[in-house]
Amino acid sequence: MFVFVCARCDAELTVPLSQVSLPAHARQKYGNGVQLPVLMESGTFAVDPDPWGGPWRMWDEIDPGEAEARGIYAPVHAVSDSTPGAIVIAPGDIRGTRLIPEKRGGACCGLDGADGPNMACEACDLPVATRVDDCSLWQAARLSSDAVRRVLVNGVHAASFSWAELAEKGESTPPFEPIATWGGRLGSGHYWSWSPQWEAAAGQALAHLLVASEGQPVKVPNGLTADVFQRALDALLPAGPPTRRAVLAGPGEPSPGAGVDILLVPVHPQTGQTWAPAGPAASAYPVPLPLGVWLWLVSPQPYVPVPASGGVPRDVLRDYPLPPRPNYLFRADRGTFQHTLVRLPDVRSPWMRTILENLTQDRSADIF
Ligand SMILES: [Zn+2]
Ligand SMILES: [Zn+2]
Repeated sequence: MFVFVCARCDAELTVPLSQVSLPAHARQKYGNGVQLPVLMESGTFAVDPDPWGGPWRMWDEIDPGEAEARGIYAPVHAVSDSTPGAIVIAPGDIRGTRLIPEKRGGACCGLDGADGPNMACEACDLPVATRVDDCSLWQAARLSSDAVRRVLVNGVHAASFSWAELAEKGESTPPFEPIATWGGRLGSGHYWSWSPQWEAAAGQALAHLLVASEGQPVKVPNGLTADVFQRALDALLPAGPPTRRAVLAGPGEPSPGAGVDILLVPVHPQTGQTWAPAGPAASAYPVPLPLGVWLWLVSPQPYVPVPASGGVPRDVLRDYPLPPRPNYLFRADRGTFQHTLVRLPDVRSPWMRTILENLTQDRSADIF
């Protein structure tokens, strides 16, 4: 476990934290005016390898060689010029800081961090972190990598779970969930929607699926996996044979046979490692999925109605009748998709050019 301390005065700025991998939905901007939960589980931190937020540089101000050196291989609107490597934590795990009200950014319902660090060390006033909790953003505090130091506490590293343990005890993420809106005249409300986490996970996976396609059609398994990916794949990739086949693979699943080109595999939630198969399937392209999403895809959980008596208070979610499925087709998160895609070196392949042309805002409007 680590605590993070102020780089200038050594004051402790967090509770003890253990490292996990950055969630796929860390950069998601979801919906309009909705409340998203806290990004990180309390007691954990993740390092965001990429710069986040301003100052921004427009694409045409950047030399392609410089962009590649930053790990960006295709044009984007603008590139963040902030210091990479922020430590992302739950806001409740921060200690010894005060807000800097002048740095409230373009705050709408909360803080969006647009003005840079908005939390200072209480002891020495050094700006050390950016609190983000505006509508449509996952709530987090981002410790600036150049303003804090990590200090090992307890001397020992907690062991990571094995894949077998994760397959058995890992928590799966339901594909539908209630989304909270900010309180209006009648108080806060909820509506049922596709899970924002699934939309971000699909955005990340879809970028990999396009690269894995090699410009050919891709067929994913029927059912929920198809609901999530097939429509976007059909829209973005050419029609007609030969088709590349993608299957779900991972710990506890039967070994994928020959003739499989693409594997949808889990990412280890602590180490961030993508599960890798042995044997003939080792040459297939591994498409990463967050463990919780992968677990649900390999073994979907039924919704079990819970018996209840008496009236249901207005602000309690009903379990009877069952919550309705969202009334729209699944859409992947465009921002997460683009963030991932432009960082995959294969995006430079000639066959990707046609796909990128298909990605213009209006031609792909209904898949994102
Ligand atoms: Zn708002
Ligand atoms: Zn300080």
